[in-house]
Amino acid sequence: MGQGSLRVGLIGLGAMGFAMAGRLAGTGEPALGFDLDPGRAGSAAVEAAADAAALCAAADLVLLSLPSEAAVAAIGEIFVAAARPGAILVDCSTVGPDASRALAGRVAAAGRRMLDAPVSGGPAGAAAGTLAMMVGGEAATLAAARPVLERLAQRIVHVGGAGAGCVAKLVNNAMVATHLLVAAEALRMARLEGVDPASVLAAVNGASGRSGASEVNFLRWILSGSFDSGFSTGLMRKDLSLAARLAGADTPLLAAAFAAWRESRVADAQDFNRVAAEREALA
Ligand code: NAD
Repeated sequence: MGQGSLRVGLIGLGAMGFAMAGRLAGTGEPALGFDLDPGRAGSAAVEAAADAAALCAAADLVLLSLPSEAAVAAIGEIFVAAARPGAILVDCSTVGPDASRALAGRVAAAGRRMLDAPVSGGPAGAAAGTLAMMVGGEAATLAAARPVLERLAQRIVHVGGAGAGCVAKLVNNAMVATHLLVAAEALRMARLEGVDPASVLAAVNGASGRSGASEVNFLRWILSGSFDSGFSTGLMRKDLSLAARLAGADTPLLAAAFAAWRESRVADAQDFNRVAAEREALA
């Protein structure tokens, strides 16, 4: 460990955590790693910790990449009990702001520090260190964590206080989910008119209708037929149920999009881009 550098731990070595582990190992000392699934911990580029408590006790900065609020709360309690005074918890999972603020309060009361730092860019962005990170918490905590976070993220935006990063991430994913379905329905017009959707996309992507959905999702994962983004439909449904809690009653367009995601026949384990492909193919 170089002088002054932070010992990093990483809990949750799934699609995102596995890629983050590889990036951390490739840019410095490998992280300590733990996953409930021993197969994940064994295959990732980490120094495997015996359990979450041992990892929290040994690390200066603990990154989380977990699939649910329940998992974050469970590991958060272990961090509160086991982490060193002053240690920093950086939660990169997508969770609701209320749950995140509640955990940040318990962490602060125990003399530790926390950032909510959800990310966009998928496993490919994590592996390349080009994630977009949206951070909630104190500026001084972000300054302390920044040397580690900059190994993972190209763009780090300090959105506001505790929970603000979660809000930004849920706004982002509400927009991604909606843009994907809107692009799919609009592209269906091209197909019904006998015009090649790929040619229409080439035109739209140089024009004002473009979005992340048209520029990235359709080209990279849908028209290519690869469906290997590394983000599951089940996780997007989880994010949209969290976003629905924030959206309130006066958002009929979002409500329609969220319902379409819930009602799609695409299974939770499948790539989330399949929901747009299903919609584009509707007669
Ligand atoms: P994943 O399901 O592939 O991985 C989650 C991992 O957490 C699994 O390996 C699981 O065994 C482990 N886990 C669950 N509970 C645990 C616990 N209590 N202790 C230790 N390990 C535990 O999910 P993912 O795609 O890697 O996503 C992780 C988080 O990042 C989610 O909140 C997701 O919404 C968010 N996210 C994912 C992507 C993406 O493209 N996959 C992009 C941005 C954000």
